[in-house]
Amino acid sequence: MHELSVMAYMLESVEAHAQRIGAKKVLAINLVIGERASIIDDSILFYFDALTPGTVAEGAQLNVRRTCMQFHCAACDDDYTPSGSDFRCPRCHTVGQVTDDGSELLIESMEIET
Ligand SMILES: [Zn+2]
Repeated sequence: MHELSVMAYMLESVEAHAQRIGAKKVLAINLVIGERASIIDDSILFYFDALTPGTVAEGAQLNVRRTCMQFHCAACDDDYTPSGSDFRCPRCHTVGQVTDDGSELLIESMEIET
């Protein structure tokens, strides 16, 4: 049921934003979800369809962009995406600094009709 509360919160933000900018209709919502946010796309879409009828977001397209964990290796001065649970730098095998923990969940942008 985690996705339900997430979706309800998202739609609240979308509606508040749409109202603020005077949008009549929301055409598309672009979400960013980190790979570690433990959100299942199918559930998100299911609740989106269940919750949007009668709102400004009814019939809107929901786009989900998944982001990965990101590390920065100081030795190589480079960013890398770890594979699986191996968080080491693929070049020098030291564990770098986490620059993105892959747990974000946000509305990147939305397309509206005024
Ligand atoms: Zn390295």
